Amino acid sequence: MQKKYEYLVIGSGPAGHVAAITAAQAGLKTAIIEKDLDMIGGVCLNEGCIPAKSLYSGAYLFNEVKKYPAMFNSGTGPAQNVMKELAAKSRLASEVLKRGLLSHLKKLGVDIIEARAEFKNSSELKITTREGEISVIGADKILIATGSVPRALDGIPFDGDRIISSSDAVKLESIPEKILIIGAGAIGVEFASFFALMGAAVTLAEAENVILPSEDRDVSSAMRIILKKAGVKILTEAVIKKVLTKKDKVCAEIKAGEEDTDKNEYDIVLVSAGRIPSTDGLSLDKAGINVNERGFIPVDAAMQTNVAGIYAAGDIVPGPMLAHVAQAEGEISAFTAAGKPVKPLDYSAVPNAVYTAVQAASVGLTEKQAKETGEDIVTGKSFFKANGKAVAVGADDGFVKIVANAKTNVILGAHIVGHLAAEMIHEFAMAKRLGLKVDDIAWTVHAHPTFSESAALAAKEILRTTT
Ligand code: FAD
Repeated sequence: MQKKYEYLVIGSGPAGHVAAITAAQAGLKTAIIEKDLDMIGGVCLNEGCIPAKSLYSGAYLFNEVKKYPAMFNSGTGPAQNVMKELAAKSRLASEVLKRGLLSHLKKLGVDIIEARAEFKNSSELKITTREGEISVIGADKILIATGSVPRALDGIPFDGDRIISSSDAVKLESIPEKILIIGAGAIGVEFASFFALMGAAVTLAEAENVILPSEDRDVSSAMRIILKKAGVKILTEAVIKKVLTKKDKVCAEIKAGEEDTDKNEYDIVLVSAGRIPSTDGLSLDKAGINVNERGFIPVDAAMQTNVAGIYAAGDIVPGPMLAHVAQAEGEISAFTAAGKPVKPLDYSAVPNAVYTAVQAASVGLTEKQAKETGEDIVTGKSFFKANGKAVAVGADDGFVKIVANAKTNVILGAHIVGHLAAEMIHEFAMAKRLGLKVDDIAWTVHAHPTFSESAALAAKEILRTTT
């Protein structure tokens, strides 16, 4: 065996690098094995959260400038030129953060090994470098943080050119004239908003009867209206009948509900139909690690797999596939490995956000889920049209909706559509985690003028009906 560590992490995404930092700070001799050093920081830093949000913020600005021709008299320049700048800005954001991460890991003494890892047994990994050199590395504790990869649909394989995944979409340097996006979860909806802002003709196809199917129905409906206003054509209950790549176009036939089959040609088809756990080639069986029927690795509250000393965190485990969840799980696994006490993660208080021109964010139960508990439920809503700041800055789409128990007034969920929804949701994440009541939000004085005042107004709306 070449080397032995106290804590060995496979994968450098949010779960892996936060775990490695935590373990090193706790005094464990730690290493990260990452199969591709260009991917240091994982999907989030390279192909997900960071480059995508950088692109969206640029597209948003591009549109704001177009709204005020008198103020910005030189205008914006053609979208294609702007897109080149946005792509460069987005790459730079990833690079800056990657450099910072690498230097932080090095300062903490974390070894970074560029190699593909697979289990040899429950305490040793076989690692293969890009050059094909193979060695064995041992550890007292191992964390699997290999994340996830885009799910391809049957009959529509990715070719990285005309039929692409989100990993390719964040690297595009030009705007397609016509794009079909299959899948209206957070990623599909974010790209639909982005490409529409940049002037592409966007069709968004979703198998369910609503977009953002896991959100509260009021959020799905409001986002549908907002996207339609932005020019996105939305097909729900969509069945993809045919996708055929021609020389420089893709022909697609889609049957949406009762409507006639939609037959169209696109420059690009972006498939955003979910992600699958990345366990290929890990030889989990050699360490006796269980996976569930969907390929995820089940863990306990300390992020330990069925094998003592082997942990898993992030997209690879069942639960929300979110960077902040991956970070929190990575932290828990490292603290446990270092013998430190940990509090289990409260998944019911994890916020979720969709970063579109008008954002959506939520925490806790939707109205439907709350009703399914059999308890008496009450909801309160406040629209940004009645919010001074929202009107003043010209961003008054959306609302704050609170779902609460009608008898106790305990907050069960909150759902926001609006300009700063992703920033505003944390008041409710805290409320949910601490079991706060509607009164606690209502009687907290919110600064004026702010978007957050609508949180207090939604809470007061409930108090009016329950007291
Ligand atoms: P990953 O980030 O997937 O990292 C896994 C790493 O493991 C990779 O670097 C990979 O190269 C490496 N690896 C895999 N197998 C091996 C092996 N055998 N040996 C060595 N290394 C290996 N989440 C949010 O919370 N907010 C957002 O706004 C958001 N936006 C997103 C936008 C897009 C377009 C996408 C695709 C995702 C987005 N996500 C967002 C989700 C977020 O990126 C993931 O939840 C997060 O990256 C998961 O982190 P992870 O550590 O589990 O794994």
